[in-house]
Parts: sequence; C-alpha cells; structure tokens
Amino acid sequence: IIQLYGPLNWFGNYYRVIQKNFVDMEKMLDLLQELPEVKDLPHAESLNVQKGEVVFDNVSFHYDPRVPTLTNISFAIPSGSTVALVGPSGGGKSTILRLLFRFYDVQSGRILVDGQDIRHVRQRDLRSCIGIVPQQVEEAAEAAQIHDKILGFPEGYDTKVGERGLRLSGGEKQRVAIARTLLKNPQIVLLDEATSALDTHTERHIQKSLRRMTVNRTTLIIAHRLSTIVHADQILVLQGGEIVERGSHLELMHKEGVYHKLWNKQLKHHEKMKREAENKQRL
Ligand code: ATP
Repeated sequence: IIQLYGPLNWFGNYYRVIQKNFVDMEKMLDLLQELPEVKDLPHAESLNVQKGEVVFDNVSFHYDPRVPTLTNISFAIPSGSTVALVGPSGGGKSTILRLLFRFYDVQSGRILVDGQDIRHVRQRDLRSCIGIVPQQVEEAAEAAQIHDKILGFPEGYDTKVGERGLRLSGGEKQRVAIARTLLKNPQIVLLDEATSALDTHTERHIQKSLRRMTVNRTTLIIAHRLSTIVHADQILVLQGGEIVERGSHLELMHKEGVYHKLWNKQLKHHEKMKREAENKQRL
C-alpha cells in the first residue's frame, strides 16, 4: 500500500506524487539497465554542489579495450545552461550520459562537477544532484493529467494505491515515477529525448514541460527535437566517439558541415513524421 502525498514542484505546486515505496523510476530507465560497476572509494568525499557546473576534461572511454567508444572528449556545461548532444546512432551520446552518472569510470581524463572529480565523491551524492529523464519524456508532459484523475477519487491524494487500493495503469505509474524523479529538484538534468513523432499539440506540451524543467538547471540532453536543438546553448556533434563539430545552431549551420547535413536530414524526417502523426490523429 502506497500513500500519495507531497508537493510536486516540477509541475508547479498543484501536483503531487507518490513519494514512498513506489516503483523505482530508475529501474525503468534504459540508461540504468546495466548494473553499476563502480564502487565508492574507501574515503570518498562528499560532493559539494553549488552551481552544478559540469566539465568533461579530455575523457576517453571504451567498453571493450579493442573498440574505443569515446576519444578525447572535452566540453563544459556552465551552470544553468544546456548542451545538446546530436549525431548518428552509435556516436557515443548515451555513453556520455552514463559516464556523468558514473555507471562506469573513465579510462582517461576526468569528469568534474563543480570542480570535483566524480570518481572521488560518494555516488549517492552525485546521483542525488542529477535528475534523469528517459526517452519517454513525452509521458512526463502528460503527467499533469494524472493529477486530475487522482483528484477525482473521493480521498484525493490520500487514496491508497496498491493491490487492494486504486489501480494505476502501467503508463500512469510511469508518469508518476517520472514526476517523482523531478521531485528531487536536481541541479543537473540528463535527458534522453524521444525520437517518436508527435502531433503539434503534444509537441507544444512537451516543449513547455522541457523548458520548465531545464530552466536554471545544468542540462545535458540527447536531442532529437529540432526546437530543442535550436534553443541549446551549445551543440556537440558526436560521430564515432569524437566531437566533430561544436557551436550554436546558427554557427554550425553557417559551417555547412556535418551538422548542416544532419539538420537537413532531420528536418525532412521530422516533417514527414509530423504529417503522419497528424493524419493519425485525424482518423
Ligand atoms: P544511439 O543514438 O543509437 O542511442 P549513441 O550515440 O547514444 O547511439 P552509444 O549508445 O553511446 O551511442 O554507443 C556508442 C558505442 O558503444 C556503440 O558502438 C555501441 O554499440 C557501444 N556500446 C554501447 N553500450 C555498450 C555496452 N554496454 N557494452 C558494449 N558496447 C556498448
């Protein structure tokens, strides 16, 4: 039996979520599907997060020593700003997110949060300042809807859920769980944006939620949505484990290089998928 209570700041003060004994969000994330391999050092320090600045300093990493996955990756995410990772499949985008969450330790270079090497700090501290939103981020935008449903029950947020209580569908549980992660109010947000096409209405909804979530938070996002990419403070184009281009959308478009090509491809794909999503909705 689970109690529903507590304010959910992410959606404003109007929404609340299950805070206790609920499905652990992290279990649902692809990012977290692998067992953590790293352990705290015997005298791991506490992580003192003030601004939430993230630095990758010449990081190289491989899963298999014969295959380099990331090579000499350096970038900084100033506190409160957004870096978007783009590039072809297998380029190493998810690996960068995993390394920042310290699923694995880097083989060379360092990752710093507010100047502290994440290998030297307690994982609990690191993970408590990082919020992860999985690919199903559009579900988060819909999370607001669960609020109305819960309020519709006679006991509202005091309603018990569980085997003998209120039943939430799998999708609803997931939305609540996403909301719960955001309840942490993390300084750093890692986001794996969904690739699926959405109708215009839902897309707008998501953009609003995204903006709300990332404002004033240090954000690292695997970006697929054109609007997210355009608004990022910095875009890193990852290909074959290397940063092949970096800059703002306009800077990269002017370059007419890898990014420019990717963008045009994405634009075409986006338009096609959007038409399909809207046709589906009309039916
Ligand atoms: P996508 O856009 O398809 O998600 P990506 O840019 O996020 O790709 P990664 O998932 O970081 O790329 O993968 C980078 C490389 O590392 C790929 O060649 C991938 O096959 C490999 N890789 C990813 N995870 C593992 C793992 N757990 N063990 C071994 N190799 C892996």
